[in-house]
Amino acid sequence: MRLKQVLERTVPISRYADPSIPSGDLDTSLVAVVTDRVVEGRPVVGYGFASIGRFGQGGLIRDRFAPRLLAAPDCLIDPDRGAPDPFRAWHAMMQGEKPGGHGERSVAVGALDMAIWDACAKTAELPLYRYIQRHLDCEAEIKPVPVYAGGGYYFPENDRERLRDEMQMFVADGFTHAKIKIGGEPIDDDARRIETALEVLGDGARLAVDAIYAYTRDDALAAAREIERFGLWWFEDICDPLDFETVAAVAGRYRGAIAAGEAQFSMADARNLIRYAGLRPDRDILLFDITHCYGLPEYLGILRMAESLGWARKSFFPHGGHLFTLHAVAALGLGGAEINPHNFQPFGGLTDEARVVAGHTSPPEMPGIGFEGRQALADMCHDLRKQAGL
Ligand code: MG
Repeated sequence: MRLKQVLERTVPISRYADPSIPSGDLDTSLVAVVTDRVVEGRPVVGYGFASIGRFGQGGLIRDRFAPRLLAAPDCLIDPDRGAPDPFRAWHAMMQGEKPGGHGERSVAVGALDMAIWDACAKTAELPLYRYIQRHLDCEAEIKPVPVYAGGGYYFPENDRERLRDEMQMFVADGFTHAKIKIGGEPIDDDARRIETALEVLGDGARLAVDAIYAYTRDDALAAAREIERFGLWWFEDICDPLDFETVAAVAGRYRGAIAAGEAQFSMADARNLIRYAGLRPDRDILLFDITHCYGLPEYLGILRMAESLGWARKSFFPHGGHLFTLHAVAALGLGGAEINPHNFQPFGGLTDEARVVAGHTSPPEMPGIGFEGRQALADMCHDLRKQAGL
């Protein structure tokens, strides 16, 4: 199997189900890797995308990483086994890169890596989670995956009412656990937001809160004191992602779980967080985003590193909220997966046919990641192919 083309397009993406609500002009990069392998009369094409909640990486993809892949068109195949090997393609992309300077290049590599895994799994005619298990010789038991609904962003008008509606939609969709945002208002007001969500979810242990890095050290400690009484599932993204001292200060006083790692974009960053932020393996949660961290090859290194330092796989709830993450969680036996059923469309969420039952779901069984099972996303992928005359 040879790589023939890499396609890329920047597309807008919104935090809100209603795209008319301003969402900070977020966008992402949709990518496709086109191979010369033909299945049922059509070329195998793998799809991926970059960031959920940040920005596209078109420049880095076009100027640096796609040309490296195309300069090594045989990089998808292990010559010894004659079988597709996503790790070889990853090493081709990383050729000549120096340690450090992870910045946004890790997201560009992660987007292409997602598309490469999709293409390889399609070639093997396996759903991605089964392909990952077979490729890694991995033995995690496949069961329905615990999932939770990500959302709960501030609405510019009628915030509490609309938050309650959103939580009711999550429960109607089959979710038992959800995550909402705090940190955008004084903590007393955010406590009312939490109470609103709990009126629907019922139990603090079913609700996580995400401060999106809003707090200074003093504000973080004050917020931790205020929310401790709710007995929440976890307290996420408390302060600047590199302010390990503040995370450690909260971890030293707050009895509930802390979740961190969503904005650590490499193995080196993840190791520093685990070493120096005072996180507690018996209760805290690691959110490293597979795509933001250079893709699955780097993420597997992070998993091994964390396990060697006493962390269990059940502590990993990778950020993302989409199908690629769901497959990885199922294949690797991680703690659970975020799902964005209404936000970050059409990338967030499950296939159109999928159902969540009592807070659990399974990855799709179609070959690859299953973007083709989300009509709105399949249409976007089709447009990208059409742009290249395919
Ligand atoms: Mg977060």
